[in-house]
Amino acid sequence: MSVEPTVHTPSRAVRRPRGRVFLLTERCKGCRFCVEFCPRHVLAMSDRFNSKGYHVPAVIAEELCTDCKMCELLCPEFAIYVVRLEEER
Ligand code: SF4
Ligand code: SF4
Repeated sequence: MSVEPTVHTPSRAVRRPRGRVFLLTERCKGCRFCVEFCPRHVLAMSDRFNSKGYHVPAVIAEELCTDCKMCELLCPEFAIYVVRLEEER
């Protein structure tokens, strides 16, 4: 009785989307929504203030951004937006 060799088909790598995050700090009012609700912890409150005296966030781990746009949707001041990056080849 012959035994068929097991064929291992290579799994296709799953690419996740990536985004570039832009903060318009002069529009920001420091509500922290973008920091609290980013599922990937891309943002954190910085130690900086804008010219109106609002404590502003900063991008601390952009490489983790998946372009989900949660921050963009939640920001009441339209002070943050995300642009999808082209996939690396
Ligand atoms: S797009 Fe999504 S993952 Fe990227 S910074 Fe905004 S909330 Fe976080
Ligand atoms: S959600 Fe908008 S207004 Fe609130 S901290 Fe983030 S960028 Fe600033």
